[in-house]
Amino acid sequence: MLGRAVARLRNRLARREVPVWYSPAYRLPMTGLEASAGIEPRRADYVVWWMLDARALASSSLRTPQRVTYGDLDRVHTPELLESLGRPETLARVFGVDPSDVPVDELMVTVQLACGGTLAAAREALVRRGPALNLQGGFHHAAPNTAGGLCPVNDVAVALAALRAGGFAGHAAVLDLDAHPPDGIAACLERDRSAWVGSLSGSDWGPLPGVDETVLPERAGDDAYLRALSALLGRMPRPELAFVLAGGDVLAGDRCGRLGLTLDGARRRDREVASALRGIPSVWLPAGGYHRDAWRVLAGTAMVLAACWDAPIPARYDPLRARFARIARKLHPSDLSETEFTRADLEEALGLSPRQRQRPLLGYYTAVGIEHALHRYGMFDHLQRIGYAGCRVALDRAGPGERLRLFGHATGAAQEGPELLLIEFVLERRRVLEADVLYVHWLTLRNPRAQFSALRPRLPGQEVPGLGLAREVSELLALIARRLGLAGVVFRPAYFHTAYPGRHSFSFLDAARQGRFEALVRDLAALPLRDATAAVAEGRVLLDGAPYVWEADDMVFWLRPGVAPDATIVARERERTRFTVVPASPDSC
Ligand SMILES: [Zn+2]
Repeated sequence: MLGRAVARLRNRLARREVPVWYSPAYRLPMTGLEASAGIEPRRADYVVWWMLDARALASSSLRTPQRVTYGDLDRVHTPELLESLGRPETLARVFGVDPSDVPVDELMVTVQLACGGTLAAAREALVRRGPALNLQGGFHHAAPNTAGGLCPVNDVAVALAALRAGGFAGHAAVLDLDAHPPDGIAACLERDRSAWVGSLSGSDWGPLPGVDETVLPERAGDDAYLRALSALLGRMPRPELAFVLAGGDVLAGDRCGRLGLTLDGARRRDREVASALRGIPSVWLPAGGYHRDAWRVLAGTAMVLAACWDAPIPARYDPLRARFARIARKLHPSDLSETEFTRADLEEALGLSPRQRQRPLLGYYTAVGIEHALHRYGMFDHLQRIGYAGCRVALDRAGPGERLRLFGHATGAAQEGPELLLIEFVLERRRVLEADVLYVHWLTLRNPRAQFSALRPRLPGQEVPGLGLAREVSELLALIARRLGLAGVVFRPAYFHTAYPGRHSFSFLDAARQGRFEALVRDLAALPLRDATAAVAEGRVLLDGAPYVWEADDMVFWLRPGVAPDATIVARERERTRFTVVPASPDSC
């Protein structure tokens, strides 16, 4: 059904070519960021995958950014700041993660690529006299001598300075529509007399000299926001180049933004701005976004720029699932399993094999086949970026099931270290509710390089910090089950944080249990995941006045119409149940 909705959309779209800067390395290579800041590190990937899938973007419109040089950064930022960015401690503070989770070189690659994308987009916008989109950037909190708020350097100021150095003397406008004020941009452009900065935000950080700023009240909503936007656009002097920070944190429910817009309101925002900037070169940037739907705001921006004004993004569309399913369709059984009598079989039959052969996982997947698949899904590239190379898969039996382990070597300044365990799971085919399913006895995703700290506290049950790949791995388990003709994937989450990432696919087998889980997700929504799971484990979550004890029951992801929990019972239990949290230290953004 979803496939048909996307196909219908493809036929309806009359798109306009808009250049889009994108790199897979736009994903910030820090494994704890998703849990700590609530950002979706795959935002740029999701937007590109969606746009290509919906054929709202031709692959010929995709541009690959080049890294800016330190010379480019030097025009805006002080040598002291740039030097400090070579230290994990500085970057860790900027991104609010532990220093052990910062691969400095790879992170600076992302940052320099983002700046390069903004600069190249500006150049092409000037040539085309139209819009260009960069899917990473809008680092508006970085000032010449300070970095902060997820902004190590200021890509807008760096791009403008490079253009100025190249002779561009025209009037530039920065329209900052992120939910937070453009303090860094104001500081960087203080002396640029041909620059105007306008901002609509939902947080009052005091006066910002030189900025036409409107601070809207909390939960202003679509109508009040769009009225203020229209007034701001009316005051904007007509520029020769505009930078638009189309922030994703305007969305209702965002962890840091307070403006309370709907997805439709955010799309109307972009339409208003695009229409005000018609005929003016403009560079569009994502800026913030701390909500699982923040990628939809950016995808909406891309749709507006591609002239797909009203085309909706189906609510159930999951870009990672769609992407992985497409890769899976291209993986032939011979890529994954031994379909023919091999030399190893012959050696084993003759008793020549020097050591016991690894039996295929679930009677199908060979270790080499799994390595090939993980490569195709982009997992090895990502592991390489977060500091692991030379990955290999090992298969054996363990307890009630079959075990898969993925090992890798830590890369870095030192020589290749010892092999480290990164991923381990124990699987079994099992009958649940009269269906054959893939039963996951054990699953662990480990980042042994990273350390626990106050910024990344140990989650209940964790031996080392996680890998930040829970979404990918749960999709891969579903693809394994699908390929083997199984009805679903079942696992038993021992903690709230192990149940939480799969909540959009998995549901508890028991309907009332599912209702209580949904109530818990609802009532803990304001907390970062690490605080929420700690609150549950520490007995700080109360149900009917008593500490709530986590119920470790089976959750299932049905791949075909199965025995879904009774929706009426789920809803009744959800509405009946109210959890309260004994407060911990306040969160800040
Ligand atoms: Zn923001």
